[in-house]
Amino acid sequence: MEKWQRSLADALCDPDELVRRFDLDRDATRRVAETFPFRIPRGYLGLIRAKGDPIYLQCVPDPRELEDDPALLDDPLGEESHTLAPGIVQRYPDRCLLMASGRCAMYCRFCTRKRKFRRPFAVSREEIDRGIACIAENETLRDVLVSGGDPFLLEDDQIEYILAGVRRIEHVEIIRIGTRTPCTLPERITRRLAAMLKKFHPLFVNVHFNHPDELTPAAVEALARLADAGIPLGSQTVLLRGVNDDPETLKRLMRKLLAARVRPYYLFLPDLIYGTSHFRSSIAHAAGLIDRLRGWTSGMAVPHLIIDLPNGFGKVAITPDHLVERHGNDCLFANYRGELCHYPDVEK
Ligand SMILES: *Cc1c(COP(=O)(O)O)cnc(C)c1O
Ligand code: SF4
Repeated sequence: MEKWQRSLADALCDPDELVRRFDLDRDATRRVAETFPFRIPRGYLGLIRAKGDPIYLQCVPDPRELEDDPALLDDPLGEESHTLAPGIVQRYPDRCLLMASGRCAMYCRFCTRKRKFRRPFAVSREEIDRGIACIAENETLRDVLVSGGDPFLLEDDQIEYILAGVRRIEHVEIIRIGTRTPCTLPERITRRLAAMLKKFHPLFVNVHFNHPDELTPAAVEALARLADAGIPLGSQTVLLRGVNDDPETLKRLMRKLLAARVRPYYLFLPDLIYGTSHFRSSIAHAAGLIDRLRGWTSGMAVPHLIIDLPNGFGKVAITPDHLVERHGNDCLFANYRGELCHYPDVEK
């Protein structure tokens, strides 16, 4: 067993231990955990400073998960209905997701795929083979996102098998991997893994960090191993109430990501999934947060604010509007400080 596999086996999964550690209601905790399982790697657990803090909220089952609005969806993104083949989701003309794993190092309480992880599962070799064959048949697919669950919960040779299969397809230009392990299980990013990934360029890795405290020295080293393998790193962050929905926390997170060689890519509003409403903040609040980044810190630290619309309608970017008024070609803009400036446009 490799070190990361031992860490995973040692992760906190026992409700009674959780109840003792945080002085929780035993019945309520067990009930939530029966519906939505939890697993907290010891390293991540160690980042919790107090019950209810931003790290705690992301990983510890909360009774509010079962008291949610029943009108919310089980499959908010309509992934089931946009399935090309088992494990392949296509919603855009030129790219698709390949679901390579049904497991994660940690089961995030706000996860979009919460319903699927009621019972974490393995993806069979046959399903992977059929998925790859399906991508090979669809010549418009030039960008493949290997996702899950977390693809880095697979062993190196399984990951290599998938990447080699996708890389062999001539019309596939780029491969992206989405993983949260640099945050939740940094020891997974071994030198061997990085050296293997390097064979499949152009390869991008999108990681997932939601709070500055998650960028521990171990996480930063894991990211450096990937970056040193020539892999451009992006971050997909979820905007979570009580975790990162204030301007200072968000700014520190984005700066720390950049310093760890990760370019902030997307900031998602949480999807409309049952059991996650307590994490939602309004669109206006979210746009206001972006306004508190743009201009105030490196433009490279400012992600796109994204809503992934329900039922497979796809992602839309929300951009704060700085055009105050317009008369003919005369546009009046407000800069990041709210100061006004005229800008003459030209005719169409
Ligand atoms: C998010 C997503 C993508 C990738 O979108 P980008 O905006 O290109 O990053 C592709 N396919 C599906 C089904 C997605 O959900
Ligand atoms: S790592 Fe990603 S896919 Fe896995 S539970 Fe967390 S948010 Fe969901």
